[in-house]
Amino acid sequence: MHKNFIDGVWCEGQAVRENFSPSDATDLVGLYAQADAQDTRRAITAAEQAQPIWAAYSPQRRADALDLIGSEILARREELGHLLAREEGKVLTEAIAEAGRAGQIFKFFAGEALRVSGEHLDSVRTGIEVDVLRQSVGVVGIITPWNFPIAIPAWKIAPALAYGNAVLFKPADLVPGSAWALAEIISRAGLPPGTFNLLMGRGSVIGQALADAPAVRAISFTGSTATGRRLMESAGPRFARLQLEMGGKNPLVVLADANLEQAVECAVQGAYFSTGQRCTASSRFIVEKAIHQRFVDAVTTRLDSLRVGHALSPDSHIGPVADAAQLQQNLDYIAIGLTEGAVLAHGGQLLKRDKEGHYMSPALFLEASSDMRIAQEEIFGPVACVIAVDDYEAALQVANDSPFGLSAGICTTSLKHATHFKRHVQSGMVMVNTPTAGVDYHVPFGGTKASSHGPREQGRHAIDFFTTLKTAYTQA
Ligand code: ADP
Repeated sequence: MHKNFIDGVWCEGQAVRENFSPSDATDLVGLYAQADAQDTRRAITAAEQAQPIWAAYSPQRRADALDLIGSEILARREELGHLLAREEGKVLTEAIAEAGRAGQIFKFFAGEALRVSGEHLDSVRTGIEVDVLRQSVGVVGIITPWNFPIAIPAWKIAPALAYGNAVLFKPADLVPGSAWALAEIISRAGLPPGTFNLLMGRGSVIGQALADAPAVRAISFTGSTATGRRLMESAGPRFARLQLEMGGKNPLVVLADANLEQAVECAVQGAYFSTGQRCTASSRFIVEKAIHQRFVDAVTTRLDSLRVGHALSPDSHIGPVADAAQLQQNLDYIAIGLTEGAVLAHGGQLLKRDKEGHYMSPALFLEASSDMRIAQEEIFGPVACVIAVDDYEAALQVANDSPFGLSAGICTTSLKHATHFKRHVQSGMVMVNTPTAGVDYHVPFGGTKASSHGPREQGRHAIDFFTTLKTAYTQA
């Protein structure tokens, strides 16, 4: 049984969760302890005590610890990727790449631990000097989703620790295995007991306890918009810092002058890989009428060539959907799209495979319009729709007709349109001739509108969330 990690000790939980593979309902990945609100309170107290000790460690010691964690993850990326693919369902190559990325993130923030800088200014008053210092926030809660079970925890935990914070890590219920493996590596990195705590269990119990605890000064969350809103309602009134990464309904604009092959790759990669379960996935293809037929034909041909299967099979391009509830939601949206009058040009069906898993074929809707629910709501599965438009101006308008604003893409050879799109599309990330999904870890990640709230994640801008500024005045 895999236990929780509280105050430097591996602890039994109040219950046990069985973690099954979405590729094969008979494959039990492992048994994982479930913490409760009392365990959470104990971990919070431990984190409060440990945090000043950790913050007082020299930047070099903190950097060394993060570097050690990063090195071990990189050395074990195949094994960790295998576990990730088995429990989450993305295919092995993607899972190994994700594990590798988690290792690189820890290495990146090992360097950043040495680069915490402030400012020195003369005061507006003679004889007084001003220093602007960066300090740790304190105890932070980290609540993560199931779709990137090791990379998202890494890109929150690594900067939190780099800047001297103590961490309470609450992974998604569906993927405790990757979280536990990461925690086990962190547990051996020489952090003071209580600096890093793993609390596996229910979001409504542990997540809520973190949201309600005054000692938890900041919460970094990635997940659904509904849960993000709930966190805001719980932790906002007590003025906790919040970093919320939520949904997306990311547009990919394809103009008539696009390189067709490149556009098809962007569309297929962006919408269907990782089973479409990425907050940055393209789910709206906004296509100029002059290229529409050629684009649709090429995308459907490419979709025909993709094999959906067991995440661990080397033949699979796309794995199963992560769980039965998500699969049902995807199928519900297929029905909604048909009711709304969109035309299902490809997929959207349940698939039978050797093993009992949550398999469905990648779905493409045609003749969608921007006001349809399938064009407005995040589905979070291998489902995309095509909206045909007359020209670039109409494409931009449709792209911005969304409550979300995470990532946006355009395929075009026009410098003029690419430049205009980069400036005017309402999103936190914008891609020209490259998929909306697939982002670098050394630059900011985040969105606008209902996609994100709070400072950006990743890269050196992560410091803005995980530190607080203090202004010191000195008269000599
Ligand atoms: P997803 O299902 O896409 O991962 P969720 O928002 O349901 O999105 O879950 C994201 C994370 O938030 C998970 O770790 C989940 O357990 C947690 N969570 C769920 N409900 C709450 C809540 N009320 N308060 C805090 N965290 C929660």
